[in-house]
Amino acid sequence: MRALCWHAQKDVRVETVPEPRILNPRDAVIKVTSTAICGSDLHLFNNVFPGMMKGDILGHEFMGEVMEVGPSVKNIKPGDRVVVPFDISCGGCFFCKKQLFSCCDNANPAQVESEKMFGYPAGAAFGYSHLTGGYAGGQSEYVRVPFADVGPLKVPQGIDDDKVLFLSDIMPTAWMGAENCEVEAGDTVAVWGAGPVGLLAIQALKAMGAERIIVIDRVVERLALARQSGAQTLNTDDADVYETLYDMTGGRGPDACLDAVGMEAHGTGVIAALDRLKQAVGVEQDRPAVLRQMVRCARKGGRISILGVYAGMIDTWPMGVAFAKGIQFKMGQCHVQRYQDRLLDMVLEGKLRPEIIISHRLSLEDGPDAYKNFNEKKDGCVKVVMKPGMSRTRVVAA
Ligand code: NAD
Ligand code: ZN
Repeated sequence: MRALCWHAQKDVRVETVPEPRILNPRDAVIKVTSTAICGSDLHLFNNVFPGMMKGDILGHEFMGEVMEVGPSVKNIKPGDRVVVPFDISCGGCFFCKKQLFSCCDNANPAQVESEKMFGYPAGAAFGYSHLTGGYAGGQSEYVRVPFADVGPLKVPQGIDDDKVLFLSDIMPTAWMGAENCEVEAGDTVAVWGAGPVGLLAIQALKAMGAERIIVIDRVVERLALARQSGAQTLNTDDADVYETLYDMTGGRGPDACLDAVGMEAHGTGVIAALDRLKQAVGVEQDRPAVLRQMVRCARKGGRISILGVYAGMIDTWPMGVAFAKGIQFKMGQCHVQRYQDRLLDMVLEGKLRPEIIISHRLSLEDGPDAYKNFNEKKDGCVKVVMKPGMSRTRVVAA
């Protein structure tokens, strides 16, 4: 079968690899009908998230048709259409029982390696390095889904893939990030990043009743999409973030701040240049430009919700300010299985429209170009969906 494989920094190739098969009674094999590239994949593409090996199959946002199930899988059967959560969860451990599915204690076989890196055994995910289990990802024609009796979400036969695909990751992620903002009536929420996650967070925050949403980025077409979804926008190339947010909130600061950027944040000035250098030589894993800005901007007693992925140690971070302001923090990988049923209902009722962010529909063969364009935010690239059944196309906007 064909699959997108990681080789090195900025080196992703389409290759012919062996098809997966059932290995455990709780496995399923699915034929992928749609798969997307996530901002998290860019951290692998840029080699700032560790643990990848040459030939690893990428991809954790995918859906498709069930081909085969192991003897213990009773909830889905061949022919069903399913969306698969990016986090792999056993469903039975202490953490899964608390609905902390992305913290599952059983799904990641790389316990020793991840404990060395993080100080505790991490959860598991598809196509996301050997630290999260080394599982083959779904940017491929077929994929093995472990614990298929827990994760996959059955979707109606008639519905378009585009409408439900993002229930695999970014729609529940955006929902969890919005929930962690603990929106109250009259609240202003500032969202850093108008990428796919930030854009879907607007829909979630609106559904939760946020009065005003201010989205911060510098990619103009992404900011335009944010405005179309009902947010106000702030372009970091044109305005000082702190001054502008303070002006917009009567000198108080946003009630909640949401990070939809993560470890590759752009920034300006000496401190940002130092972050970039330290990340490049590996003495600091993350570039915390957005984290610093959020602490400075949030109002006293405000909330900070972090969805952007961070991998390690950061420094020059204003802990004293955060403490003095009494800021509350919530963060983490999404527990997709906690949200997916409710969000599927909302999509079917037309209350959420995640598909509006798709800019490119391509074949798997276009994957290497698509990674490059998405990374460089070129060609109007906001969200790429690949259809493994489709023959090679030019990289064009939909
Ligand atoms: P993306 O790379 O397409 O979008 C990030 C956006 O942030 C870009 O538009 C970029 O221009 C903007 N940005 C960069 N620096 C900025 C700054 N200083 N201020 C304001 N904006 C800035 O990625 P995405 O798919 O939207 O994902 C965003 C983040 O969410 C990534 O870190 C990704 O790994 C993470 N993520 C987390 C989860 C989770 O479960 N927590 C799930 C999915 C994605
Ligand atoms: Zn993702």
